[in-house]
Amino acid sequence: MTVPRLHVTERLAAGHAIRLGGDRAHYLRNVLRLREGAGLQLFNAEDGEWRATLVGQARHEVAIAVAERIRPAVAEPGPTLVFAPIRRNRLEWLVEKAVELGVARLVPVLTQRTVVRPEGSGRLEAIAIEAAEQCERLTVPVIDPPRPLQDWLAGRDASARLLLAHERGDGPPVQRALAAARDADLMIGPEGGFTPEETALLLALPQAAAVSLGRRILRAETAALVMLAAWQGAHAET
Ligand code: SAM
Repeated sequence: MTVPRLHVTERLAAGHAIRLGGDRAHYLRNVLRLREGAGLQLFNAEDGEWRATLVGQARHEVAIAVAERIRPAVAEPGPTLVFAPIRRNRLEWLVEKAVELGVARLVPVLTQRTVVRPEGSGRLEAIAIEAAEQCERLTVPVIDPPRPLQDWLAGRDASARLLLAHERGDGPPVQRALAAARDADLMIGPEGGFTPEETALLLALPQAAAVSLGRRILRAETAALVMLAAWQGAHAET
């Protein structure tokens, strides 16, 4: 059986005992049905990944003894994905797959054609954590609260590169643009696309460029994953 891997915010060090309550205790006790003596792997971005053992259970919590480190903390650089919220099931899928593909930050922005009400960040954060546990990341990407496009633009570093997926533009293929722009923010529009005014505003930014994701019009979540897969192909070491 695969050893369960759990993200924790508690500090991890040899000999530490940590207690988990709430959903995480429920998950270990009632979903995975772990009992005393069961092995676990705990991780977080600060301390890396550690072997641990479940050593005690009470009604609403479990006690875990941390043993030795298996992987040190490492930087996991990845791109920022800027996107307009889409329908809930598609958004949840996007978040899960984006984490698997190495996204470092997810930035939802509200555009003129954004028609869905943005989801609370708690549910999306839980999905991001679960995806990080599954795909053996040590870091969980940051998910920003949704904000209007204009607000995001106002707070953004204007010198940062921005690659805008433009379905009806004449930009180069994203793969080509990414080869020369490792640190670019990747941006996709809502289901209805950006309005012409938004497209003009974005492409007028000093470091912005339109890119193509091919001849077919992709759904927003497919477009996001194509961009992230292209980034991974161009820049991930493995
Ligand atoms: N309603 C738009 C239309 O028919 O022209 C399509 C919008 S598309 C569903 C959602 C977003 O995905 C777009 O705003 C764009 O950022 C991205 N996208 C989809 N297909 C693309 C392509 N072939 N090249 C570049 N971007 C694409």
